[in-house]
Amino acid sequence: MSKIGVVSLGCAKNLVDTEIVLGYLVKAGHEIVSDPLMAEVIIVNTCGFIEDAKEESINAILEMASMKEVGLCKSLIVMGCLSQRYREELWEEIPEIDGLVGTNELDLINQLIEEVGQGERVQKHRDGFFDYNQVHTRLFTTGSHFAYLKVAEGCNHRCAFCVIPLIRGKFRSRRPEFIIEEAQALLEKGVQEIAVIAQDTTAYGRDLGTSVVELLSELAKLRPQPWIRLLYTYPTSISDELLELIRETPNLVKYVDLPLQHVSGSVLRKMKRPGDYQSTVELIEKIRVEIPGVTIRSSFIVGFPGETEEDFQALLRFLETMRLNHVGIFKYSQEENSSAFDLEDQIPEEVKEARYQEAMALQQRISLQLNQELVGQELEVLLEFPSEESDLVLIGRHQGQAPDVDGVVYVGRGDLQLGQRVKVRITEAHPYDLVGEVVDHESA
Ligand code: SF4
Repeated sequence: MSKIGVVSLGCAKNLVDTEIVLGYLVKAGHEIVSDPLMAEVIIVNTCGFIEDAKEESINAILEMASMKEVGLCKSLIVMGCLSQRYREELWEEIPEIDGLVGTNELDLINQLIEEVGQGERVQKHRDGFFDYNQVHTRLFTTGSHFAYLKVAEGCNHRCAFCVIPLIRGKFRSRRPEFIIEEAQALLEKGVQEIAVIAQDTTAYGRDLGTSVVELLSELAKLRPQPWIRLLYTYPTSISDELLELIRETPNLVKYVDLPLQHVSGSVLRKMKRPGDYQSTVELIEKIRVEIPGVTIRSSFIVGFPGETEEDFQALLRFLETMRLNHVGIFKYSQEENSSAFDLEDQIPEEVKEARYQEAMALQQRISLQLNQELVGQELEVLLEFPSEESDLVLIGRHQGQAPDVDGVVYVGRGDLQLGQRVKVRITEAHPYDLVGEVVDHESA
């Protein structure tokens, strides 16, 4: 049995794959180590979504390859979206890679490690998809109080900039019984928050004759206490029933994650996405009316081919007037095999960068103002991690902060325990993070 180190890159959906693989490794008796210098086998789970992510993945592969010279590492294994997308290129151009799997061969990891251990250079390839319809023994990397729950894989949309459907295949829901069983196991372990994820969570169940509304109702009924958060929704799939369910169900977090990508009708049409400025404004207004106090997160792409100054100004106007709580801005990345790759009117890098900086600066100002409005309020906060900077500080999140992507709340440690939900009075606001003092230890 080997000591194995794992580097996980990319999004929450990829992280779940890492946790599934870690589960297989532990089941086979391997030991997981956090220091790559101590690992005999290093696995890099890569992301291949956009240029920056690909670069980060390649750098991580090369950095881990260098461990073969300085550490205990004998074998380097690469998995994930990048290896699914650029299998042959990686294999030929990085000879330090000893083993490779794509996104469909997660269950073959132990076999791969064994074969690589015999001195072979091995790739595993399967034509079909990995079967998510099982209850995985995942090894959680998100602490003991929070976990992601992947409810589907793949995507049936064809957004022009996106290669996810090529990498991950068509949308396919996991069967509800496996999801519920997995959620039940999480709750038994004491998890205080479950984030429901997929490429498009609002499409859940269409292929099985059920729906995300039914699934969320079932999940919410399991236990009254833990927060359940829905991430990655699709604008035209936000139904009245879904909004009503979130409003009426106490443990469904009043948080809507709605990646909009743009608001200009002409850019959205070129992106092969629905809607225009007016319909997007109406959707945000409707969500706010239906779920009072809701927190809204979105993400936008600047510099998509053909985006005019007028389109960009429309995006800024939208951000300024709609004042979303959390916004991610991305520069368009021209991806081979995406349908936008060959579009004319590609935007020069310096224009993309300038638009990115302008949109980011605007949103930072808005996020700071919105956070300042929270000063003096008392919010329920889930305490998750000790601060790395000081033993006297704990890090938590209130319901309006999703893990990994939004800010956090810092509070004094006192005699508080991780996993506790406490009432915190907010005392200080920053563009992303908040600082507060605990006013009630028995909040939740
Ligand atoms: S909804 Fe669009 S952007 Fe999201 S994964 Fe599907 S194709 Fe990609």
